[in-house]
Amino acid sequence: MVQGIVFVLIFSLFAPMVSLKPLTIGTPSALAANRSVKTIAAGTKYATSLYVIRSGVSGPVVMVVGGTHGNEPAGYKAAHLIKDYSVKKGTLLVIPEANRIAVQNKTRTAPGVGDLNRSFPKTSSDKPDDPLARAIWQTVKDYSVDYLIDLHEGYKYHLQTPSSWGQTVIYYPNKGTKALADRMVSAINSSISTPSQRFSTVKYPYKGELSRSTGQFLGCHSYVIESCRLESLNTRIGRHTTAVKTALKYLNMQ
Ligand SMILES: [Zn+2]
Repeated sequence: MVQGIVFVLIFSLFAPMVSLKPLTIGTPSALAANRSVKTIAAGTKYATSLYVIRSGVSGPVVMVVGGTHGNEPAGYKAAHLIKDYSVKKGTLLVIPEANRIAVQNKTRTAPGVGDLNRSFPKTSSDKPDDPLARAIWQTVKDYSVDYLIDLHEGYKYHLQTPSSWGQTVIYYPNKGTKALADRMVSAINSSISTPSQRFSTVKYPYKGELSRSTGQFLGCHSYVIESCRLESLNTRIGRHTTAVKTALKYLNMQ
């Protein structure tokens, strides 16, 4: 009995430190306990939410990022839907508003951050350029992210205007990464009848992009999904959620 009380006391002392881990799974209340919200870049003006959805079963760690550019609403609105998804395997991490100030201002960048999607390490010895990029980079490392999907928007259809990235899945070519890029493209294209408006895959995100740096220096399977502004907002949001659902299905997480 005394041992039991001591255990409870010790557990109570240390419980806050292990709150990331689900204690049990299987009942509705326990499932709710598998969702948590963390703050990244806490204590700075860039503080933003990270949603952690744990299945309780070992499997891939998938991170979905929206709002890297605050003037691309389809990405962060899709990410806000995705943060409510459940997974049956692995862990889903969602940062809906990576650059929260830019999202609030509806601008591509925010004062003090520059272009967040050029702020990540450009060489293996480089460091992220600013506190927000540093916090996101550290989060990718802390959770050992396997798959990273960054949601963006382009202005024109890439197959019609090659200088624009609308309707592309851009990937860093680690082993096995393209197979999922192809899967996402074909899932999205099944609902696009005009060939020149369809998605295609593109190799190599720009240096300094989260997807490029995580792919090149952390070994992640990393993707940028670029919807196209020539489609309606709801359609664009659907392109992003289709891509993410396809990935989660491919990984047997849904
Ligand atoms: Zn963008």
